[in-house]
Amino acid sequence: ALDIGHDLGTAILNVRAFEREHRLVKELQALDQYKGQLIATLAHELKNPLTSIVGYLEMLEGEDVHGAVEQALSAMDRGARRMVRVIDDLLLLSKVGDPGNPVIPQPVDLGAVAADVIDLTSVAAQKRSISVHVEAPAYPVLASGDPDELDRVLSNLVSNAVKYSDPGRSVALRLAQDGEEVVVECCDEGFGISAEDQEKLFTEFFRSTNPVAVAQPGTGLGLAIVARIVARHGGRIELDSELGRGSTFRVRLPAATSFPTGG
Ligand code: ADP
Repeated sequence: ALDIGHDLGTAILNVRAFEREHRLVKELQALDQYKGQLIATLAHELKNPLTSIVGYLEMLEGEDVHGAVEQALSAMDRGARRMVRVIDDLLLLSKVGDPGNPVIPQPVDLGAVAADVIDLTSVAAQKRSISVHVEAPAYPVLASGDPDELDRVLSNLVSNAVKYSDPGRSVALRLAQDGEEVVVECCDEGFGISAEDQEKLFTEFFRSTNPVAVAQPGTGLGLAIVARIVARHGGRIELDSELGRGSTFRVRLPAATSFPTGG
């Protein structure tokens, strides 16, 4: 009887510990949701006045101004546009981090997404004399996910590859199916990323201390967005990179349908 009492006592303690843990998890989830909502609200609040500033700056662009005024206007225009980029990225970050807004998966033809991304980044690539090409199999590579979000993943990776490479280098976007998964590889021959930087790469606002990389424009939010999108699709990211040699970002996503291989 004593033993039963002891076991019962232990069981009750276990249940209480479990309940406490469960409560803590719920509290953390609520906090996380609150944080996400706060960021979204903040971003909206900042965006409205900023949109009016950008509008007035655009209006002044056609005016006949010179010297200091022209310089000031141009600096304000650059600053305001940068803020718009940060705010848009923050809004997207909070959207793709919101567990109340899950992905509604559909088959996404990554070949079409890749073609769109090449189009989208072609001006930036040309400016830096970087050639970007797609390597895809003859069969369609179909991921299961949200087309806009997957477009964003590929375009962030390609635009980074372009930004963080020396002129004359090339970038390859490779697509393949691997069993139940599809694989997208973005390979560059660029600056590469140090082992130290690799650890913080997917953190919000992280930018490398590498002076050549910092010279490129950016918000430090791109890879944080990529990581969240890939995670909420049930995928994962791998990175092979060596300083001075280049980087390969490999994204694995669930495939929409499995094709028989070797047939
Ligand atoms: P951003 O490009 O706006 O700074 P990201 O989150 O996209 O922000 O990238 C974070 C940092 O990671 C960049 O500032 C850059 O230093 C580094 N990085 C990203 N992609 C590459 C790449 N392909 N090659 C070298 N460095 C990269």
